[in-house]
Amino acid sequence: MGSTYMAVEASAPGVLRVVERTISEPGAGEVRIRVEACGVCHSDSGTVDGLFPIKWPRVPGHEAVGRIDALGSGVQGWAIGQRVGVGFLGGSCGYCEFCRAGDLVNCRNQEFTGIHRDGGYAEVMVAKASGPMSIPDDMSSADAAPLLCAGLTTFNALRNSPAKAGELVAVLGIGGLGHLGVQYARRMGFEVAAIGRGSDSAELAKKLGAHHYIDGAADDTAAALQALGGAKVILITASGGTTVATTFKGLRPGGVSIDVGVGPDPIEISSMDLIFGERKLAGSLTGNPATGDATLRFSALSGVSAMIETVPLEQAAAAYAKMMAGKARFRMVLVTKNGKNGTAQPK
Ligand SMILES: [Zn+2]
Ligand SMILES: [Zn+2]
Repeated sequence: MGSTYMAVEASAPGVLRVVERTISEPGAGEVRIRVEACGVCHSDSGTVDGLFPIKWPRVPGHEAVGRIDALGSGVQGWAIGQRVGVGFLGGSCGYCEFCRAGDLVNCRNQEFTGIHRDGGYAEVMVAKASGPMSIPDDMSSADAAPLLCAGLTTFNALRNSPAKAGELVAVLGIGGLGHLGVQYARRMGFEVAAIGRGSDSAELAKKLGAHHYIDGAADDTAAALQALGGAKVILITASGGTTVATTFKGLRPGGVSIDVGVGPDPIEISSMDLIFGERKLAGSLTGNPATGDATLRFSALSGVSAMIETVPLEQAAAAYAKMMAGKARFRMVLVTKNGKNGTAQPK
């Protein structure tokens, strides 16, 4: 490898450009990764469109998979040549109150990949050693990429939910997150109702493993869920406060709606619906690295995969635009030249 690498950086709001950067050594407690593939996630708009305070220029991308090619001082547990994935959470500090209590997700010093530090729209990236996840050998880098954020987010929320095998779980939205959520819910042993918009998604929902399909554009979703006995869990993968509120009444007593879809609209839930039936509304943020490892292993073992479209890294701007326009079916994945020569392509 030469002394430079290609990266795609956000240089101003809405602008993504291909640049050449100089390779640097990883600092203490960091690993350097030769990136093979990186997924394009809706949250990348936090960087590209400057929704978070961003120090420009910044390389987006928090679904990065590659091989470690250098270890900074003091790094333990990782080896050169090991294939790893870097998700949204850049790595916990290990010493704050939340880390000390074992809550790595809510670490007070957590940096977000592609926001506070450069991410995976690049041939090379440097990551904090406490962040990465292990990629199973039998999974390609391109297939693994979307599982690091979209996969982990839906897997973690369902795995830590109160639903038990055989209980009704609804997945609201069948997009980048939802098409994985339906697969995980089915493989975890739940009765699965997928809620989409329009009759077109019915066939896809069944193919992904849903037992029931509810057309949110035509049906009363809450009544449809109650007709099935009421959902123990509703996994909300679509943004939109009204949809969340109307579906909430589809929970059975003691049920919980778990929101993983970020949107600007407030969610208005009536206190009657909360109190009578003791229902809950909760948020869930990706998951810790061990759950990330479990997401990848579970996906490999049970045959869960994201539907992906791969494009070369240099076309990141076009891939990002397609995702933002809602035209990706369902996850765009950037592949670097390391990936073309390595393990990025499906076997
Ligand atoms: Zn993401
Ligand atoms: Zn911490």
